[in-house]
Amino acid sequence: MTRTLVDVAQEASTCTKCRLSTTRTQVVFGVGDPDADLLFIGEAPGQHEDKQGEPFVGAAGQLLTRMLGEIGLTREQVYIANILKCRPPGNRDPQEDEIETCTPWLIEQISLIQPQVVVTLGNFATKFVLQTQTGITRMRGSVYPWHGRTVIPTFHPAAILRGGGEKGRQFGELQEDFALIKRTLAEPEPPPPPPPVTSLVELEREEQPAIADDQLELF
Ligand code: URA
Repeated sequence: MTRTLVDVAQEASTCTKCRLSTTRTQVVFGVGDPDADLLFIGEAPGQHEDKQGEPFVGAAGQLLTRMLGEIGLTREQVYIANILKCRPPGNRDPQEDEIETCTPWLIEQISLIQPQVVVTLGNFATKFVLQTQTGITRMRGSVYPWHGRTVIPTFHPAAILRGGGEKGRQFGELQEDFALIKRTLAEPEPPPPPPPVTSLVELEREEQPAIADDQLELF
């Protein structure tokens, strides 16, 4: 039987693969529609998330929910996850080995949800997903093809709040990025790639449908 997101979340809930399992209150796997077209990836749970077991429920989460509302979406219509599923103590940066150990959960989430658009929230998630050293200020505002999907990097809502929220310099850019998310979601999905060419004769037949089969031997 195929594994569902619920099965994976269940298994992750008892994960002890890294040291964060000794300090967390609970695993914060992810929340939202398991079939969502839009997936948000943050960094790691904070204090509120660790307590409630749900990503982006603190002040940054409230801003994320508000921005979703501005483009006509609810939290229930998207999927929200983090790179790390457990809170690093004191909200310190995730460590290399923690990321490496935790990544398989995120990969399973992506392969089960199959989102069309992936939004990376902040420097950390953007650098990790797109494997780039370029900072979020330069990366945002554009779309990036990624494994048959589209990645749209934007600011982490916590960074927006630190920069003065709505009155801050970057709030307008955050709004622009959400408008870009909306436009990208409205684009038709690219058609599946054509089947591989197995023989030149088949290719010629496809390209020359008006020519009868026996005439092919003349070329
Ligand atoms: N910041 C994150 O990156 N993720 C959360 O879930 C909360 C705050």
